[in-house]
Amino acid sequence: MVSLFSDTETRPTAGMRAAIAAAEVGDEQKGEDPTVTRLQARVAELLGKEAALWLPTGTMCNLVAVKVHTRPGDALIADGMAHVIRAESGGAALASGVLVEPIRTARGIFTPSELAAAMERVTAVPVPYGQPVGVVCVEQTHNFGGGAVWPLDALRAVAACARERGVPVHMDGARLLNACAASGVSAADFAGAVDSLWIDFTKGLGAPIGAVLAGTSGFIAEARRYKQLFGGAMRQAGIAAAGCLYALDHHVDRLAEDHEHARLLAAGLAATDCIHVRTPEPETNMVFFDVRGLGIGNAEFLRRLAARGVRMGAAGGAIRAVTHLDVTRADIETAIAAVRRVQAESVAG
Ligand SMILES: *Cc1c(COP(=O)(O)O)cnc(C)c1O
Repeated sequence: MVSLFSDTETRPTAGMRAAIAAAEVGDEQKGEDPTVTRLQARVAELLGKEAALWLPTGTMCNLVAVKVHTRPGDALIADGMAHVIRAESGGAALASGVLVEPIRTARGIFTPSELAAAMERVTAVPVPYGQPVGVVCVEQTHNFGGGAVWPLDALRAVAACARERGVPVHMDGARLLNACAASGVSAADFAGAVDSLWIDFTKGLGAPIGAVLAGTSGFIAEARRYKQLFGGAMRQAGIAAAGCLYALDHHVDRLAEDHEHARLLAAGLAATDCIHVRTPEPETNMVFFDVRGLGIGNAEFLRRLAARGVRMGAAGGAIRAVTHLDVTRADIETAIAAVRRVQAESVAG
């Protein structure tokens, strides 16, 4: 089976499993796990932030960060298809009591004037009737935006707009390192534009567990409290953190290969009749395409494709294919051939 369902499909490699087996561990909840401590220091340095905090998932990073930045009743502003709004079970509402003010965009990237307009909508009626804006969230790369990269200048301009109004900016950097590979901008430069951010180790980096949130020492001290409160504090978590350290050493430089594979896939699909590629020139590791021209629904397309040994998923009304560590160039060719066979069979039938 070739799985392009998600970049979370990666399995730990033999090298990563060896690093995990050899990990030095301690009680992480007490701050005594040396491998977790090493990973946190490494990520803080990578991102140029004062401190960092290991958490079990990226979802918990967003949950904790929004909790630290906001008070109940504040507004959270983000692109309308941001993961923090659409794909976290309403966690920001439940845990932080924030009211979401979405910005409608084509690819998840908004401008300072769109942000200013959203802030004005929220504060149009003065306090005590209106509400303060607690946090602005950006997503790098933007998942439902097709793996779109926030250019550094665009990010800085939006952050300046928020800062002028005294509002912090939080980055969901689940795929920040993909953005770095695609743009040549360093992780620290992107991170320098925002107040807090996190990276996920279970996406293109290929580790089985873990994400690390970074920010000022004060922010991380508060975050540590909520990590405990939400049940995210662990024991011998160095077992998992060792996989993340291994990923930083071995799986970052190769991300460009995933992007090359996504471009190959997009080109192959674009040359297939009745398939409309929404991301004809993918910036990173995702390809979105429509199969309406085949006269079968997304679910039926995915079923027929799986029967031919290729797994993809549906997202945002389209088919989504994501390249990653466990997908080779030959797998991309297999995937294109499988889509073409489903296409030919659908048109014939
Ligand atoms: C996967 C993802 C998350 C959540 O991360 P988990 O580690 O799966 O909890 C958040 N934001 C984006 C953009 C993601 O792709």
